[in-house]
Amino acid sequence: MKKIVRFILAAALLTAAAGQTVRAEDAYVPPHEHDFALVSHTDYTCTEDGYDTYVCRTCGEEERRVTDEASHRNELVSGAAADCEHEGNEVFVCSVCGEETVITEPALGHEWKDNGVVKEPTLFTDGSREFVCKRDPTHVRYESIPSEISSDSSVAIPLILIASAIVLALLAATAKILVDKRREKKGKEETEEKEDTEE
Ligand SMILES: [Zn+2]
Ligand SMILES: [Zn+2]
Ligand SMILES: [Zn+2]
Repeated sequence: MKKIVRFILAAALLTAAAGQTVRAEDAYVPPHEHDFALVSHTDYTCTEDGYDTYVCRTCGEEERRVTDEASHRNELVSGAAADCEHEGNEVFVCSVCGEETVITEPALGHEWKDNGVVKEPTLFTDGSREFVCKRDPTHVRYESIPSEISSDSSVAIPLILIASAIVLALLAATAKILVDKRREKKGKEETEEKEDTEE
């Protein structure tokens, strides 16, 4: 009988001991400040952050500390620089997953430098001012400078009056010449007629 009791007791103790080993996490640990030790590093991937894993030497608690953000391993495969009129771009391909990323840069636009007047305006003809692009000297544009007559009415009005007067004078002169010629012709004809009748 004693033997049986002893056996049961032994079995119970064993079970308790086994239970304790299996459920080590529940073991009582006195309050403490964790004493973390770095145990491993997990590299970042295209979609997941990289991290270091620490484990407490006292209680075994695990802690992850992010070291790198998730990111593609991008390699530049082609590119074109932006210029005055065209946008630039850089094409990257991830060496791990092959995903393509295109980064565009807007066109820069011209940067005009005023080269000054290249053709002076006259009274009647427009002049021009030249602008050359600082980024590319083959980019040239011209701005028209209006003629004096179109830009200044104080010049224009008297000029128009003078021009009109000249035109009128010319017309009058032409008309007078025509009249004189006709008269002269008529006079000649009359003389000829007279001569004819006399004969
Ligand atoms: Zn701990
Ligand atoms: Zn990737
Ligand atoms: Zn330009």
